[in-house]
Amino acid sequence: MSQSRTPTIVKCPTCQTDVVWGEQSPFRPFCSKRCQLIDLGEWAAEEKAIPGAPDLSDSDGWSEEM
Ligand SMILES: [Zn+2]
Repeated sequence: MSQSRTPTIVKCPTCQTDVVWGEQSPFRPFCSKRCQLIDLGEWAAEEKAIPGAPDLSDSDGWSEEM
């Protein structure tokens, strides 16, 4: 039997480095924790970018007329 298992290689979404898909890469598909945080940071930035969000936290002029 000469069946060699070929490791799965993925590319880090942040820096395009080859990452072995295995236990030796705890941050896969990222190559490192830094790249993981960078990617998450970009996602968070997009989530927070909500244009024209109304500020209703301090509306004293609001009257409850029903
Ligand atoms: Zn990376």
